[in-house]
Amino acid sequence: MRPYLGWCEGRVWWVEGGPYLWGMPTRPSKLPHVGTTIFTVMSKLAAEHGALNLGQGFPGFPMDQRLSDLVHAQMLAGRNQYAPMSGVPELRALLAKKMQVAYGFSYDPDAEITITAGGTQAIFTIITALVHAGDEVLSFAPAYDCYAPAVELQGATMKWVNLRYPDYRIDWHQVRAQITPRTRMIIINTPHNPTGMCMTAEDMSELQSIAEEHDLLVLSDEVYEHIVFDGGRHESAARYPELAKRSLVVYSFGKTFHNTGWKMGYVCAPAELTAEVCKVHQYNVFSVNTPAQYALAEYMGDASTYSGISEMYEAKRDVFNRALQGSRFRLKPAVGAYFQLLDYSGITDEGDVEFAKRLTREHKITGIPCSVFFPNLQDDKVLRFCFAKQDDELLRAAEILQSI
Ligand code: GLN
Repeated sequence: MRPYLGWCEGRVWWVEGGPYLWGMPTRPSKLPHVGTTIFTVMSKLAAEHGALNLGQGFPGFPMDQRLSDLVHAQMLAGRNQYAPMSGVPELRALLAKKMQVAYGFSYDPDAEITITAGGTQAIFTIITALVHAGDEVLSFAPAYDCYAPAVELQGATMKWVNLRYPDYRIDWHQVRAQITPRTRMIIINTPHNPTGMCMTAEDMSELQSIAEEHDLLVLSDEVYEHIVFDGGRHESAARYPELAKRSLVVYSFGKTFHNTGWKMGYVCAPAELTAEVCKVHQYNVFSVNTPAQYALAEYMGDASTYSGISEMYEAKRDVFNRALQGSRFRLKPAVGAYFQLLDYSGITDEGDVEFAKRLTREHKITGIPCSVFFPNLQDDKVLRFCFAKQDDELLRAAEILQSI
């Protein structure tokens, strides 16, 4: 067993496995409140108990074989050395065209697009490059868990606005009330993890006016851009030219092409902001997997590789939702991303972390407790289930949930 390094009155000690190392000077954790992410915790528990894992968000079906063939071909063709720091030109050119067609904003592929090792690295790099000690960064709770640690590591402070419960909409009056002269950045996430909420055109217009009024940067986490349901339109920050000028928009190939393990994404941002981001990017990643970038450039040349994703996931949401009709769980509206929230308050008043663990141990089904997405661990008795799975897996999951 790995020993656990503890902190006590300025001294390190081994809690397990000894020996105790009294007297060795050390310093406290830079992230004292951070433990292992809930995704890792729940996936491990699911594996230990042989549970159906709808916790951590990843597709339970293979990516297109053609994409693996293209990577293999690129490797055989010798594309195995460092890519240019900001990404291979063919891929950046294609993404610039994609952004222009989808959202109408022209990004310069050489100065305004950076290929990253996934969305999380992009977010960490942006925050490290642009947020200063003493700044405040505003975001919305519940929130994906990687924003706050990145902000705190800069010596900056997170300010939170809770999405309204139970509809998870943004209260812009509250946002205005939280802005101070120190506010530097707003982080938005649409479609939203974990709630599946999608920001509307009115939201974007509110955001733009607040950002302009207070001269704020916007970090727009849009990794689920291609997963929007019921005929809705993805409201990218890049659709609004005045907003795009102060925004860094983050995307993920993993979410779009069902290969989250590739850890590849990109950032689109005006040249001055991209230049700052690249100063950090070049020293923490330098450049991203070369053959995969060439393969993606070739693959994405055909827009049908990503244009039908919303429909595919909408059908999965509907399979899962229909199979849950009549259960004791209450379904929250899921209009984007690949998560379904289930309110279990009609079943028990157990805490959500305990309940999620008990479902895994006793019923062999795993979801994510939503309290972990709140800085104050607010427990609305809601679990998140990922429906990016094979239909038979969704039906088996629903059958278990029906029995609870
Ligand atoms: N984005 C994934 C989710 O929300 C998890 C990624 C991770 O495990 N860090 O489930």
